[in-house]
Amino acid sequence: MDYKKYALVDLHLHLDGSLSPEIIIEVAKEEGINLPTYDAKELRKYLEVPEDCKSLNEYLERFDIPNRVLQSKNGLYKCMLNLLKREADAGLKYVEVRMAPQLSTQKGLKQNEVVEILLQASKDAFDKYKIKSNLILCLMRMQNNMMVNLKTIEVAAKYLNKGVVALDLAGAEALFPNENFEALFELARNMRIPFTIHAGEASGAESVRSAINMGASRIGHGIHSIDDESVMKSLVEKKIPLEICPKSNLDTKTIKSFEELPIREFLKRGIIVTLNTDDMTVSSTNLVNEYNILSSIGYSDEELKTLSENTIKSAFISDKEKEELLSYLN
Ligand SMILES: [Zn+2]
Repeated sequence: MDYKKYALVDLHLHLDGSLSPEIIIEVAKEEGINLPTYDAKELRKYLEVPEDCKSLNEYLERFDIPNRVLQSKNGLYKCMLNLLKREADAGLKYVEVRMAPQLSTQKGLKQNEVVEILLQASKDAFDKYKIKSNLILCLMRMQNNMMVNLKTIEVAAKYLNKGVVALDLAGAEALFPNENFEALFELARNMRIPFTIHAGEASGAESVRSAINMGASRIGHGIHSIDDESVMKSLVEKKIPLEICPKSNLDTKTIKSFEELPIREFLKRGIIVTLNTDDMTVSSTNLVNEYNILSSIGYSDEELKTLSENTIKSAFISDKEKEELLSYLN
């Protein structure tokens, strides 16, 4: 079966976790950035998660090297354009790329400059490679970053529907619970900026409940919703999609095996499940691979098609744009 026909849209894709070793080396050489090796094959070992990765926190350590090359306009532009080219080559038609502008300010760039150069790359990728993309700006779960998170919301508001479609909350979920960020999302709600929240990955169903209560339009992962009937009921009633990323969930030990993925149970209850990659390089995956994984554990063609349709319908785009993407499926 050719799952390429279903791998059209990725809604949960982190820029920093999806850089190719080649583009990291190219930017590092241009800008004199220190890398442990300048050999692409060797560098990949530093970027991919080790098989004995114990947790989401250990997984997050793999982002150190990519972030070194995302500190200049040159690096941001090239990395974004390269990612979108690879996605277009793989047959994807639309992606929502997420990134935290506050992590790209170490060399003096302002958050709005970070976003502007990425939007330029997004436009150029559409012209060159015919792939559409929008940005989701991540707020970060960290200590003492209230002001920079506020700045990210301000920047999101400025570019909302001009290439930025939503906010997200990313980082170490178990260390910094959603509740710490309640005031920020209240502000986002008041400013009518949609947002997603990573929840039910390293933390339990209660984190999904709080993300729903805070007004999240979609949930990043949400695997642990399966442990709480009332949470699943809310997801159905409020039509809140889950952004499931199987390989990443295995890598972060959110699940012990692919068979543990509760996707079929979610679908049976009427929960909108979407299929995505999360971090293509860190998890050495791509969207076709995610469909292959589910096929290999017995998901039917019909179920995979449903996931692809759900993913398209859950995008932060207009109905007209969704119709256009759905036409590729049929
Ligand atoms: Zn993620």
